[in-house]
Amino acid sequence: MNAETTPLSSTPRTTLRRHRERAQTDRAVLREVLDAGLICHLGVVADGDPVVLPTAYGRDGDTLYLHGSSANGAFLAADGQRVCVTVTHMDGLVAARSVFSHSVNYRSAVIFGTAAVVKDEDERWQALRLITDHLIPGRWAAARQPTTKEMAATAVLSLPLTEASVKVRTGMPIDDPADHDLDVWAGVLPIEVTFGEPVPDPQLREEIPLPAHIRDRAS
Ligand SMILES: Cc1cc2nc3c(=O)[nH]c(=O)nc-3n(C[C@H](O)[C@H](O)[C@H](O)COP(=O)(O)OP(=O)(O)OC[C@H]3O[C@@H](n4cnc5c(N)ncnc54)[C@H](O)[C@@H]3O)c2cc1C
Repeated sequence: MNAETTPLSSTPRTTLRRHRERAQTDRAVLREVLDAGLICHLGVVADGDPVVLPTAYGRDGDTLYLHGSSANGAFLAADGQRVCVTVTHMDGLVAARSVFSHSVNYRSAVIFGTAAVVKDEDERWQALRLITDHLIPGRWAAARQPTTKEMAATAVLSLPLTEASVKVRTGMPIDDPADHDLDVWAGVLPIEVTFGEPVPDPQLREEIPLPAHIRDRAS
């Protein structure tokens, strides 16, 4: 079985305890959650204290890449260390009849693994391209490429997508049946992530048109 088709591993720490029916074990669902996300949160113990940082990311097969300043303390601390990365989509606010039963519709991924600062220059270049294109597909090729100095100022962290869990909640509030007769509105307020109209930099030369990759991202 290759990594493309293997189900997500079920290790003690990736086994959901509550609402186990919301676990998704298909690796394709993990990829969908990651590919649809914009940022992740990296959790790492740095100098003895836990820190959780939001960062951009990109994916290459079953490897996740994060990037940051080469002076980023959390990245340096993460090198060779066990870390946890999460990606969360909020799909709806679930308003129940009782305060207790309020919830959120979501898709979320939790990934555990040993992170590594990428040293190979080709892999670093490829990772930065993936991270850039993850946010705006086609942007890497359209923008100026990094200089040697800019590459040196950038750290790239890799994390294998080997040990991960995905949890998905959909649907309506789960109220106590005794509450169904209450005069309280119940239902779901859907959440969608949308991009607004692109706003050109005031310093942009007038003859430069809106490129297709920005228009495509915004539509
Ligand atoms: C947007 C959002 C809001 C939430 N709000 C709340 C809240 O207010 N209160 C609350 O108790 N819970 C909330 N949750 C659910 C929460 O993330 C946990 O799933 C839950 O608290 C604990 O589940 P558990 O006991 O199975 O997890 P644990 O037993 O603590 O975790 C066991 C393992 O299950 C996996 N796991 C647990 N949760 C997730 C997840 N969400 N996604 C992917 N893998 C997971 C991890 O691998 C974890 O190591 C929220 C989730 C999301 C996405």
